[in-house]
Amino acid sequence: MALTKPIGLSEPEPPPGEGNGRAAPIASGEAARVTPMMEQYIEIKGANPDCLLFYRMGDFYEMFFEDAEAASRALGIVLTRRGKHLGQDIPMCGVPIERADEYLHKLIALGHRVAVCEQLEDPAEAKKRGAKSVVRRDVVRLVTPGTLTEDTLLDAKRNNYLLAVARTRLSSVGEEVRFALAWIDISTGEFRITECDRPTLPAEIARLEPGEIIVSDALYADGELAPYWRTLPAVTPLTRDVFDSATAERRLTAFFSVATSEAFGPLTRLELTAAAACVTYVERTQIGKRPLLSPPLREAASATMAIDQATRGNLELMRTLSGERRGSLLEAVDRTVTSPGSRLLAQRLSAPLTEPKQIARRLDAVASFVEDVAARADTRSRLAAAPDLARALARLSVGRGGPRDLAAIRDGILAAAELARMLASLKDMPAEIAAALQSCRRPAGMLAAELAAALAAELPAFKRDGGFVREGYDAALDETRRLRDESRRIIAALQARYAEETGIRALKVRHNNVLGYFVEVTAQHGEKLLGAPLKSTFIHRQTLAGQVRFSTTELGELEAKIASAAERALGLELEIFERLAAGVIAQSAAIKECAEALASLDVASALAHLAAERDYARPHVDDSHDFVVEAGRHPVVEQALARDGTPFVANDCDLSPPAETEAGRIWLITGPNMAGKSTFLRQNALIAILAQMGSFVPAKAARIGVVDRLFSRVGAADDLARGRSTFMVEMVETAAILNQAGARALVILDEIGRGTATFDGLSIAWATVEHLHDINQCRALFATHFHELTALAARLSRLHNATVRVKEWQGDVVFLHEVVAGAADRSYGIQVAKLAGLPTSVIERAKVVLAKLEQEDRAAPKGFEDLPLFAAPYKAPQETQDKACDLMLAAVAAFNPDEMSPREAMEALYTLKAKLAEIEKK
Ligand code: ADP
Ligand code: MG
Repeated sequence: MALTKPIGLSEPEPPPGEGNGRAAPIASGEAARVTPMMEQYIEIKGANPDCLLFYRMGDFYEMFFEDAEAASRALGIVLTRRGKHLGQDIPMCGVPIERADEYLHKLIALGHRVAVCEQLEDPAEAKKRGAKSVVRRDVVRLVTPGTLTEDTLLDAKRNNYLLAVARTRLSSVGEEVRFALAWIDISTGEFRITECDRPTLPAEIARLEPGEIIVSDALYADGELAPYWRTLPAVTPLTRDVFDSATAERRLTAFFSVATSEAFGPLTRLELTAAAACVTYVERTQIGKRPLLSPPLREAASATMAIDQATRGNLELMRTLSGERRGSLLEAVDRTVTSPGSRLLAQRLSAPLTEPKQIARRLDAVASFVEDVAARADTRSRLAAAPDLARALARLSVGRGGPRDLAAIRDGILAAAELARMLASLKDMPAEIAAALQSCRRPAGMLAAELAAALAAELPAFKRDGGFVREGYDAALDETRRLRDESRRIIAALQARYAEETGIRALKVRHNNVLGYFVEVTAQHGEKLLGAPLKSTFIHRQTLAGQVRFSTTELGELEAKIASAAERALGLELEIFERLAAGVIAQSAAIKECAEALASLDVASALAHLAAERDYARPHVDDSHDFVVEAGRHPVVEQALARDGTPFVANDCDLSPPAETEAGRIWLITGPNMAGKSTFLRQNALIAILAQMGSFVPAKAARIGVVDRLFSRVGAADDLARGRSTFMVEMVETAAILNQAGARALVILDEIGRGTATFDGLSIAWATVEHLHDINQCRALFATHFHELTALAARLSRLHNATVRVKEWQGDVVFLHEVVAGAADRSYGIQVAKLAGLPTSVIERAKVVLAKLEQEDRAAPKGFEDLPLFAAPYKAPQETQDKACDLMLAAVAAFNPDEMSPREAMEALYTLKAKLAEIEKK
């Protein structure tokens, strides 16, 4: 029984000029008449043209006109028609408020923006102004992908950023164009700013993976950038004023109520512009509600490893190439036990550090949890009970919080205090943990105690449901509840009395929203109550198929008592809620700091757990240009193989510069398909990322000189979505590397040059290796199927040939996955084809052809002194032979022996012979 009805704003409005219930909002009438309500609707919709308008009517959000059509299509809900507007039917659909989140989620995911329009007064108030007056309504919030706070709309394990991108005015020619990025996670309050140049813009955006990007109209329409914006999920162009640099500082300081932007440290004008755009957009979407944003924190671009979009995708950092979290590096290393911990881990993984001291600080924290097994276990079990403080706080701050958010704050503060007590005795306390523990102690214990005293054991999802304040917390509330419950008991007693008085034992007192409390008897007993003398007590209300329903004066009076007591009780509860929420918000800075501390403890203990579980080692990261990995493993492949009980073969890698120099080595890795080349390449890149994010690494030991940029490319990757040929993509990406990789970069190139004809590909690969060696001088790993490249080692001093060992056994190839010095002696392509299940006849034929080709190849001598101008008939012979055959056949087909003189026949033979000689020469 729904005893407590929603009050105030959610009271159903009696539609103008119609009966009760959820009936036609728009009175049908003369064609040209516009109802007052429609007038209101059109005005509000006019102010929010780019949003679907959720127009609140009683317990529903209604949509009209095109909005209704779009929403019914998107949500699969029924499209109906209500009344007429200017002579036309008005299309309409609606969603019940209890399920609004679910529908919002779908609409946002489909790229819609939604304006939520609420009733701003009790319908009774409106009625006082006259029977035809409309309830005051207005938009209270714009729901956009980048400004969500609800748990139901968010991924608990990922941040959801709103990103503003501002660009310097294009003034003088030749001046470098700069971009400022400001991003906010409104659901946690984080606020960051950075600057970058045009080439690094996509890499920065790829790192943040924002839920929504805002740019100025002009930047949105920019000829060069427009195609790029279209590749991103949600880019919102905004009017110029949002990105106005003249008013930026004022808007930003006003939002934070500070006198000057110097409070945030030195920010460029461009950074101020982007930051101001963010807060302006937040204000416009949250309408009057001010989320608790942290002051903007400036991130120096050089503080993190630059990893461009292609590299991120290719190394499958956050998700696999097919888009799943499963199989990604993140999934493989995430052992966190809380959502905030998981979000922080993802942040760190997508932005590894470049400052060895900071990296060591994180590693120290992990190391102490590796050593102290008991502290690790305790920390993890305590954390598991600590809820998402930051998101609960964010919801409370914008008035969207519920009783469970208060409980989350209570539990979070208690868990943090408990952790601080527990870990205080940690041996050789690392700085990061010490700082976290201090933050854990910051929120006042009083607040948690107050929340604990106030909140009931079982909590409803919404405050409007009531019943969340504990019995005994507030005397006035207890008294009101007693009255309400008392009346309910009287009603129960009344049922017994009525049954006795009427002699109808099956008589029931029931309740619904339309009739309130009523007496119900089966049809056969109905007559009795309808007749004298009982009809003076029982007033007929409804006759249904099987039942007849009556009301009585007594019931009516009791009902009014219950309703008013329930309403009063709820009112008191809501007052208590607001008081508690205000108490929480007063401590928001401390709570936020505490939330961050809990997340960092989660990450440190989770990485320690991973290190212990998978036998990872602490890497040594310094300012050198070294790169030495001893017995390294691929973190994802290793775990996948372990599930099938297959061991992973560990491999060493050393790209350190020779003594006295800073130019890194290049390893050129050859070996048959499936040998493990790609795995080896990637595992070294992933080890660098893990080390610099502050994690132990899957290796026996690792010494890494900070990598400032990481590049990883695979030959012939399909990129049909962007409408470029695969080879074009490969070359564009290779160009980016050769132009950008500096001395501290780590470059991974996997089968570059595979996407074009053999000679082209070989030449490009050849020139690329030379460029990396002579110009970029960075550390690099290059896997290739062009065995010819191994000859380069004789000329390029820092090029090292490595190969992945295989063993031939009874005509089959056995992959040892072992990387050793040297070059592969052959491709084993046929053996691999056999493993893949090519028909035996094809395999046998291929072997014969190969033997023949190899024989010819050996017959044509080639020295690498001549390279890269090798004259030998390379690889193409198969093709040449086919072509020769075709030519000869065509020539023979042209002869007509019947019409030839003996002399002509003789001449034809000579021509054929000459042709053959010509072909052989080619
Ligand atoms: P390639 O690039 O040489 O064609 P891959 O790196 O794609 O080969 O490896 C092929 C498969 O071999 C992988 O999917 C993996 O299952 C297995 N593999 C690769 N490296 C190892 C290793 N070091 N230990 C065990 N298995 C490996
Ligand atoms: Mg490969």
